[in-house]
Amino acid sequence: MSDLLVMKFGGTSMGSAERMKVAAQIIADARAKRPVAIVVSAMSKITDLLLDTMRHAEGGDRSGMDQNLATLRKRHEDACRELLPEAVQPVIQAKLEILIGEFERIANGMLMLGDRPIRSVDEAVAIGERLSSQLVAAYLDSTAGIRAQAVNGAEVIVTDAVFGSATPLLDQTRVKAQAAMGPLLSAGIVPVMTGFNGSTQDGRPTTLGRGGSDFSASILASVLDASELWIWTDVDGIMTADPRLVKDAAVLSEVTYAEAAELAYNGAKVLHPRTLAPLVEKKIPVYSKNSFNTGVPGTKIVPELRSSAGGARAVTSMANVAMVSIEPATSTIPGTRIMARALDALALTNAEVLTFSSSSYRQSFCFLVRRDELSAALQAIEEALSLELAHGYVKPIEVEENVGLIAVVGEGMRGVPGLAGRIFTAVSREQVNIIAIAQGSSELTINLVVRRDGLEKAVRAIHQECGMSELAQRR
Ligand code: ADP
Ligand code: ASP
Ligand code: MG
Repeated sequence: MSDLLVMKFGGTSMGSAERMKVAAQIIADARAKRPVAIVVSAMSKITDLLLDTMRHAEGGDRSGMDQNLATLRKRHEDACRELLPEAVQPVIQAKLEILIGEFERIANGMLMLGDRPIRSVDEAVAIGERLSSQLVAAYLDSTAGIRAQAVNGAEVIVTDAVFGSATPLLDQTRVKAQAAMGPLLSAGIVPVMTGFNGSTQDGRPTTLGRGGSDFSASILASVLDASELWIWTDVDGIMTADPRLVKDAAVLSEVTYAEAAELAYNGAKVLHPRTLAPLVEKKIPVYSKNSFNTGVPGTKIVPELRSSAGGARAVTSMANVAMVSIEPATSTIPGTRIMARALDALALTNAEVLTFSSSSYRQSFCFLVRRDELSAALQAIEEALSLELAHGYVKPIEVEENVGLIAVVGEGMRGVPGLAGRIFTAVSREQVNIIAIAQGSSELTINLVVRRDGLEKAVRAIHQECGMSELAQRR
């Protein structure tokens, strides 16, 4: 649909009845001008609560489970009461109770089994979004004067069967999305779809990974050929650094798809890393906007900047990472082949290599993975290199968990002489040791690996040295 606007509201924008009313106002304003489709996250902290409840269940802790279930009920019942007219409450309350009952049934199964199968986790954790979508749709419909309907993303987004971090199958999704959303949109009904979840071709529930509602929204925008995607969150847009870390971080009025993707992949939580991929080809513009401050324009994510002047534009970091180092014991061992086999083994685990650095002289190499993917990654590499390790052809694999990753990003960094040197000097001035350096072939990003305890200091030093706030405000 050529004029369609897809809008996604994150957890904080869904955090309470009051926040849902603000979201509904935003939806009403947009709906007055053009057709809209909505994607919602669960109410803030609900996904964590659901996951925690399932951990209690697996551990046999009935009372912990019950406490969490009481919190789950109360958050949604309170929101329902504050949001909806009395006449509508019983119907919606009953719908919420069915969903909470569904969650309880799965959690009870886990309690009995003493196990938490990942497929059941995916089915259960999406209930957070199914609850919030019911509330928003009911409010729009009953109070805001906008016909709306909750839609379960599992009925729309078709994915592969990698539970917990599924990948969408766009062709199949397009067919399903058009069938599910087309009639609603043509009838002037606003679909309120759950973010975060999907299902396999044979109907098994999946999720797209933590923070995946951004990705749901971009998938939907892509398959419905939307004209724009607006992502509503709790900051004024994509900033030069995480404002929780750098007090004077400034909003970037425009960033490119490539810059935004680099920031997201390197830890900027404001966007799910995979959000932009479905949109790039169709050049669908994305805006990152603040539902707590609707008057400011936010950040526009575009194919190209109007002027690419300037150097490093933003810095981001990741704390929960580990560095794995592998080194052949002698130079007679073909290092490239060892590297290839290690990477092959890694690819099979779906663990993501965040940075990679190698030394041709010692034939050694090191790479960074997320801490929660470390044990699967190590196991796979140790299996793949078991003979070489057993015979001492490859030195024992070294793991350093006490590290953090920094990424300095900017289209304008290409060919700026001396920039890398200035960044390294600024970090060293703070007495933070740089353990590894990698520069992407695109020259868009410089990655540094530093000791974990120097991570925040280094981010602030780089932000200051590159004058990122000033640069953002000048544009
Ligand atoms: P939502 O629930 O709306 O999806 P998230 O919490 O996932 O919101 O993402 C928004 C948060 O991302 C902000 O509150 C901010 O602390 C964090 N963040 C990290 N890096 C950046 C950045 N470069 N620009 C803006 N926000 C950032
Ligand atoms: N509710 C999910 C999460 O917290 C998805 C999202 O909010 O994007 O990870
Ligand atoms: Mg998010």
